[in-house]
Amino acid sequence: MSADLTNQTNMAERLQRSHLRDLVPYASARRSMSGGGIWLNANEAPRTPSTAPGGVDNNRYPPFQSAVLNQAYADYAGVAVDQVLSGRGSDEAIELLIRAFCEPKQDRILICPPTYGMYAISAQTHGSDTVQVPLQQRGGANWQLDLEGIRNNLSSVKLVFVCSPSNPLGNPLDGADLIALLELVGEQALVVVDEAYIEFTAQRSSHTMGVASWLERYPQLVVLRTLSKAFGLAALRCGFVLAASSIITVLQKVIAPYPLPQPTIDGAINALQADAIAAMWQLRDDTINQRQRLLKELQGRSWVQQIYPSVTNFVLLKVSDAEGLVQQLSADGILIRNQSKQFALSNSVRISIGSATEMDQLIARLPA
Ligand SMILES: *Cc1c(COP(=O)(O)O)cnc(C)c1O
Repeated sequence: MSADLTNQTNMAERLQRSHLRDLVPYASARRSMSGGGIWLNANEAPRTPSTAPGGVDNNRYPPFQSAVLNQAYADYAGVAVDQVLSGRGSDEAIELLIRAFCEPKQDRILICPPTYGMYAISAQTHGSDTVQVPLQQRGGANWQLDLEGIRNNLSSVKLVFVCSPSNPLGNPLDGADLIALLELVGEQALVVVDEAYIEFTAQRSSHTMGVASWLERYPQLVVLRTLSKAFGLAALRCGFVLAASSIITVLQKVIAPYPLPQPTIDGAINALQADAIAAMWQLRDDTINQRQRLLKELQGRSWVQQIYPSVTNFVLLKVSDAEGLVQQLSADGILIRNQSKQFALSNSVRISIGSATEMDQLIARLPA
């Protein structure tokens, strides 16, 4: 084992909650034995009694981790298969990280608002405090990390959550800042980069997008990915953690014995075939075109006070009356999201980019 790898192992083992060090994960039937042709070790039924003709039996428990799915995502992301954990969306990954690394009432997470809401909620349900170091405005609507503020607020912090591109702002974080963040956090905590929207920024080359290629250099880096956004598969509930294998091993101690339903595993493997990935990029391009069209429509309207530049599938707007706009559109059956409760985002709304027809309808009903 190289010096580097030894280091990685030590770091994840040192940072995990102390009781996990000796915890032996539940050895489910599927996890503890494989092979064989007659499976009588999991109290499953021999078949599904009412499977429709041509349908698939669902009588067997799925694998703990699907090797096929994890390899497919590893290939897509340009990482090694032992650097991948698949689970119920990135929301589950956020919760697993907190459960594995934060001692309740003792360890804290750090977030940079305005940001995705689930980091703080998951910490709260777990009994961990959240330290907030707001993003800083760097000219116009370009919100970026306050590195000095983060440096001064790292005490008891085990996880730093940043979101790039940002939900709800829509802009990417500066790459040099992310490196500076990894350097300043060092081995004291994990830096979690939530890349839920990363496909919307990429050049159709999934290997070079985002920060996954930095995993070899930074053992403290954790990347969150999902099939819910660009892949258009939110109903499947499938997301991925990309991290050093030693971190994946720790997360495997706290994840459920059968995290993903078999239909989800099958659907996700399909979505990662070459033709499906090509279709994903096409949908992504259509979405970006609709986003640019909406932005043009919004320009010059008196009630629009600020348009946040977006590299995602949504736009954030500061408007004269956020709740009024939300109500007015909802009366026409069009739902958008009020973001006014977020830090520094009074009177702001977030609009997801839909189909061309949906955008026609939205544009037709926007106030002049
Ligand atoms: C939508 C979203 C998620 C949740 O993704 P799932 O994989 O559906 O759980 C996580 N992070 C951010 C920033 C999101 O916008």
